[in-house]
Amino acid sequence: MTGYVGRFAPSPSGPLHLGSLFTATVSYLDAKAHNGQWLLRIEDIDPPREVLGASQLIIDTLATHGMVSDKPVFWQHNRHEKYRKTLSTLLQQNRAYYCQCTRAQIKSYHPLYQRQCRHAKHISGAIRWRNDAPVIEYRDRWHGLQRAPYSELIEHSAFEDCILQRKDGLVAYNLAVVLDDIAQGITHIVRGTDLLPTTLLQLNLWHSLTKQKPPEYAHCPVLVTAPGKKLSKQNHAPAIDNSKPLANLRTIFALLGLHSSAQSIDGILADGIQQWRTSPPAFQQEMIVE
Ligand code: GLU
Repeated sequence: MTGYVGRFAPSPSGPLHLGSLFTATVSYLDAKAHNGQWLLRIEDIDPPREVLGASQLIIDTLATHGMVSDKPVFWQHNRHEKYRKTLSTLLQQNRAYYCQCTRAQIKSYHPLYQRQCRHAKHISGAIRWRNDAPVIEYRDRWHGLQRAPYSELIEHSAFEDCILQRKDGLVAYNLAVVLDDIAQGITHIVRGTDLLPTTLLQLNLWHSLTKQKPPEYAHCPVLVTAPGKKLSKQNHAPAIDNSKPLANLRTIFALLGLHSSAQSIDGILADGIQQWRTSPPAFQQEMIVE
């Protein structure tokens, strides 16, 4: 076992489809090719978007395709106490503040939030992070240097005073994801390029919340039906058919340029891991599927 700790962190807003199973497989192969651990985290912090039964279906689908978390599944619904404590510390230390701007007010002024409530001393509303210590670049393992120029300091989402808790009390994705990656000791994040734009912001938050070394990021292609048209739950991508896991893995392997004639799930995955070690695939931002 090396120091590599990776993860797959789906939101249970529906069953896995080919695009999300693809991301899961890439994160799994990369972790195992590095002799690392692969952890599963269910990001169930947004009850209105959660589909009943989807969490268990995701866990079962992954298991059917040979992917089982190396530690007990980590659930965000068990983490509210930690989120709440972090928010109150940040507020106390004046590293976060309440904001009462509506979305319409913000948008009428600028596409990004321009820190209007920083000095307003509101005592309720959404909670925003005082984003003062920007990391302006990082090197993505598959996409190279990602840089946000200083000249765009307030124009770039990496430097926005992002929301940590919504007005309705729900914890925001960016806070939960960073606190949980810290808690799980994640060293390598492999996820879709749709999340690439959030990475600098999350690195900034990471440095503000811990002295722990930040993870290395690698973004794999998002599967699209046409340029810019992501396979997604919102676009009604069909759920993975758990009765044909071999065929599903073969479809994903073909997209990754991996080969296996094995007749078992474990055999296919073992071949994939072996090939990943010698020649990991070269990645683009999107991959078109039929
Ligand atoms: N839960 C997020 C999603 O399903 C992924 C978070 C992440 O990988 O950082 O899009």
